[in-house]
Amino acid sequence: MKRIDLHVHTTASDGTCTPTEVVRKAAGMGLAAIAVTDHDTVSGYAEAAKAGQELGIEIVPGLEISTRYLGPVHILGYYVDPESPVLQEVSDWLVKDRDKRNRRMAALMAADGLPVDYERMQERFGAVIGRPHFAKLLVELGVAESVNDAFARFVERGQKYYCARNFLPIERAIRLIREAGGVPVLAHPFQYRLNDESLRDLIELCMKNGLLGMECRYSGYDEQKVDYLLALAREYALLPTGGSDFHGSVKPHIALGDGMGELCVPYRFLIGLKAAAGIEPELDMEDE
Ligand code: AMP
Ligand code: ZN
Ligand code: FE
Ligand code: FE
Repeated sequence: MKRIDLHVHTTASDGTCTPTEVVRKAAGMGLAAIAVTDHDTVSGYAEAAKAGQELGIEIVPGLEISTRYLGPVHILGYYVDPESPVLQEVSDWLVKDRDKRNRRMAALMAADGLPVDYERMQERFGAVIGRPHFAKLLVELGVAESVNDAFARFVERGQKYYCARNFLPIERAIRLIREAGGVPVLAHPFQYRLNDESLRDLIELCMKNGLLGMECRYSGYDEQKVDYLLALAREYALLPTGGSDFHGSVKPHIALGDGMGELCVPYRFLIGLKAAAGIEPELDMEDE
């Protein structure tokens, strides 16, 4: 069976592998396709697509947008037009807002006497900096033992260096992805700790605004969880998707394509996404 991974972060946001490195890794392990889904931006896609062409692996343009519904909720967008003016405008706004938040976090660390210089972080990590970068830095400075420890004691909500950023309303995020020609998908539904009733409310709200899919296979989701999500997706006529949420060395327990060892995302999921995006399927599908 052809396998894929539809949830991958690169250095275009807070992953630690460049788009080229991620594509090489994916090609090396025989994945048939990956989607680049960086936070707030599609800017890693061009490089990934070029590497994909050279290595014969299909690359799907995507992004992941953080929103709020009771708590944090993430919406993935697949096959958005990377050139879409409305998407570029909102993406720029999100990146700028994130940047303001980051400067406040860096200032809090500097005020504590830590040698954290935001300009240097930008040179090193690029334009979209996230809390995992701060966590990594705190580990390097010997203040935290691991990225997880840095999150728990310093950069998680409620901890001393945490600063909030603004979020797009969930309705706006979903509509934006549709306006940019993309397919909106509810990411990792079990991460929100909602009960069945609240998850259904969330799905119904999202569907009113144009949601088309739900991530049913995800790192750490066992067969029971996956079956529950697949049944929900079927009931609501949502397209099932799946991916690892690979971030490289800031989340070392998550492997590209394999997740925590249990992940297996079939190419069939991508065929559904393509149909929804109005994209012609590849002719070569003999081993589907
Ligand atoms: P940000 O968007 O910059 O506020 O950071 C959010 C990112 O931090 C997302 O990629 C989360 O998955 C990641 N994150 C949240 N908690 C942790 C944790 N305990 N360890 C590693 N990454 C985390
Ligand atoms: Zn991330
Ligand atoms: Fe997410
Ligand atoms: Fe993610």
